[in-house]
Amino acid sequence: MRSRSLTFLLGGALAAAVLQSAASGQTPASGPAPNETLSQSYRGSQSSNWEYQKVAPFKVFDNLYYVGPGSVSVWLIPTTDGLILVDAAQEPLVDHVIDSIRKVGFDPKNIKYILLSHGHLDHFGGTGKIKALAPDARIATLEEDWQLIDQFYQAAAAGRGRGNRDPGMPFKRDMVIKEGDTIALGKTELKVYKLPGHTPGSPSFTFTVFDNGRPYKALLFGGPGQRNGVEGGTQFLASIRRLKKEFADIDVPVHVHSWLTTYPDPRGGTVFEPAKQLANRKPGDPHPFVVNALWRTWLNTAEAGTIKYVEDAKKGTAAPVSN
Ligand SMILES: [Zn+2]
Repeated sequence: MRSRSLTFLLGGALAAAVLQSAASGQTPASGPAPNETLSQSYRGSQSSNWEYQKVAPFKVFDNLYYVGPGSVSVWLIPTTDGLILVDAAQEPLVDHVIDSIRKVGFDPKNIKYILLSHGHLDHFGGTGKIKALAPDARIATLEEDWQLIDQFYQAAAAGRGRGNRDPGMPFKRDMVIKEGDTIALGKTELKVYKLPGHTPGSPSFTFTVFDNGRPYKALLFGGPGQRNGVEGGTQFLASIRRLKKEFADIDVPVHVHSWLTTYPDPRGGTVFEPAKQLANRKPGDPHPFVVNALWRTWLNTAEAGTIKYVEDAKKGTAAPVSN
């Protein structure tokens, strides 16, 4: 009875995550803290609760699936000629990503591209393990982010890894992409942009998603928030202003975290909150990930926040950010 009422209340993806932890013989993980949204809990009170992080994968569009843990997004784009994976999460959650790809009906060996949204471990840490299952996969990011990845593995090899974070299986520098490139696979094309400020690179990708065949413009934004003081803040502000100018018509913003620590999504999160609506969507209802007005509002919020961040950074009073 308990499971049924949970399923009814929570909808597919979330209920599956709760049931999964119940089925594993453990006490179902405690939910978000009272002051947290669901998405926030994955990077807040439950950030090290690995069972809680194992959310069930789900389909968002005809050609876009969520296969990540709760804390960091991993997106799967199936094409007529293989799979494109964006980001790879990090240990100890990489097996969950691999299982999730299989659960939504795809074989990891058919991954042809692993695109890395930026050179931070929470996004690239699973790359080596996934590549070991996908011999044809090209691993691609911008030069600036390859430099961060190279530096990370050089430091790890020299025993100078940061803290106790598991570096995952190392992988070699492969494909360097740049602004203006097109990544084409089957009938799918992703255009590459450089939108720095979170890292000096932060590749972003535009592509078309389909909702029962109806096309929408999607943009995967590689940089979830500014970092690195005046320099990073100034770059991020320019990227946000560029997005406002050139990408105001985006229907579907695809983010690399559900909980954007710097500029949270007003829905409570970018993924799991609309996913609940999607699970309960009735025929004819709008798609809850098609949110152009919200995207434009978010850009305004990010612009105002970044202006203040840069001002504070110039005065030396900018709060440290972890995003
Ligand atoms: Zn990052």
